Amino acid sequence: MATCDVAIVGAGPYGLSAAAHLRAVKGLEVRVFGEPMASWERHMPIGMLLRSPWSASHLADPSEGLTLEAYQAALGDRLPRPIPLGRFIEYGRWFQRCAVPQTEEKNVVRIDASPPGFRMRLDDGEECRTRRVVIAAGIVPCAWRPPEFDGLPVPCISHSCEQRDLRQFARRQVVVIGGGQSALESAALLHEAGADVEVVVRQPRIHWLDRSAKLHRLGLVSRLLYHPSDVGPAGVSHLVGRPTLFRQLPRGWQDGLAARSIRAAGAAWLQPRLTEVQISTGRSVTSARPVGDRVRLQLDDGTERCVDHVLLATGYRIDIARYSFLAVRLLNAIRRIDGFPQLDAGFETSVRGLHFLGAPAAWSFGPLMRFVAGASYASRALALRIAGGAADRPSPETARVLESTTAGR
Ligand SMILES: Cc1cc2nc3c(=O)[nH]c(=O)nc-3n(C[C@H](O)[C@H](O)[C@H](O)COP(=O)(O)OP(=O)(O)OC[C@H]3O[C@@H](n4cnc5c(N)ncnc54)[C@H](O)[C@@H]3O)c2cc1C
Repeated sequence: MATCDVAIVGAGPYGLSAAAHLRAVKGLEVRVFGEPMASWERHMPIGMLLRSPWSASHLADPSEGLTLEAYQAALGDRLPRPIPLGRFIEYGRWFQRCAVPQTEEKNVVRIDASPPGFRMRLDDGEECRTRRVVIAAGIVPCAWRPPEFDGLPVPCISHSCEQRDLRQFARRQVVVIGGGQSALESAALLHEAGADVEVVVRQPRIHWLDRSAKLHRLGLVSRLLYHPSDVGPAGVSHLVGRPTLFRQLPRGWQDGLAARSIRAAGAAWLQPRLTEVQISTGRSVTSARPVGDRVRLQLDDGTERCVDHVLLATGYRIDIARYSFLAVRLLNAIRRIDGFPQLDAGFETSVRGLHFLGAPAAWSFGPLMRFVAGASYASRALALRIAGGAADRPSPETARVLESTTAGR
């Protein structure tokens, strides 16, 4: 049976950045599994623009030579800003070809403990052993579907992660549930595709990031207000952008700042695209039932809607139990809090040799880990651990190195 030192599950921004860093650790045999940028290709809508700004959208390699600027230079072309989804996918694949050409386009179907490491099964039937596993498998399995929509037949309802091409809803009536970027951008794309759309939002108002957009245009002042990774409101963003510091804050502060940093909001540039779309705020759906091939929704103000489709843009709730490739015995050995694994400074779980990157690391390292911008810190900390470093309380110098991200550009 083949063996390796480290197996990385997933070839999105986190898996690829981690692989690029681990390749630089001498003598380490690393295998990377997954189709590069697959969840961006399959689970985000055509026409989407990245909400994260340029400075927060680089994948990370140890030499910082594979940034978006380097990609533009290689391409001999300028990327638009905000970055269109398709161009970002192309960038991710270019990064993969340059930094991790050995990526294996196979899915991992099972991981179990097999001391002194792990045993894995791939979807082509191969079995292999590895000393360490790094799970960078993303959020798609954690898509949240509110229970009031249970029981609606599949053609009438979908989660936003299931809709790649919203143009199929042209001339149809669609209700979008949710008030965050995904709901609002889906509504804009649906409207532009010729659908009749309404957005139903629980919150009393949409939180538009228009004030934040103005504060981002103040040059030096903006840099004082926002960390380049740009997660969280003015000021708070500097704490979120320093995970070593963030994880030392009292738990209550971490939770409060995290909630504030990822609250549902819409980018300012979406606002003009939604002027003709009905947005019903302060409303929730109390019941949903099929009527023929349509859906009847009852709202809490007593009104009803009868539509062709309900699009749940209701976000994601991290629970690593949703990763079906984890053997139950292994899953049960991982110390978890509210579905998140508890991770030490090297992104390692209570099971030695098992690491998680990306959104599952957000309980331990803060909301930065939910975004591409966190990949630089995570990859460096992981590489440091695997190369034999990563103390639980890094020295100020180590913290500075970990946090000097490519996002600084
Ligand atoms: C609609 C939408 C818009 C977003 N916009 C932004 C944005 O503008 N900026 C930003 O920073 N973040 C954005 N995000 C968050 C974004 O998902 C994360 O920042 C980013 O994808 C994290 O990278 P990742 O590598 O952890 O996950 P992913 O990009 O999801 O990569 C995980 C990969 O693992 C693969 N995988 C899963 N299971 C297996 C398996 N068993 N075997 C092999 N491979 C497997 C998946 O196919 C996938 O390719 C957005 C999210 C959504 C849903």
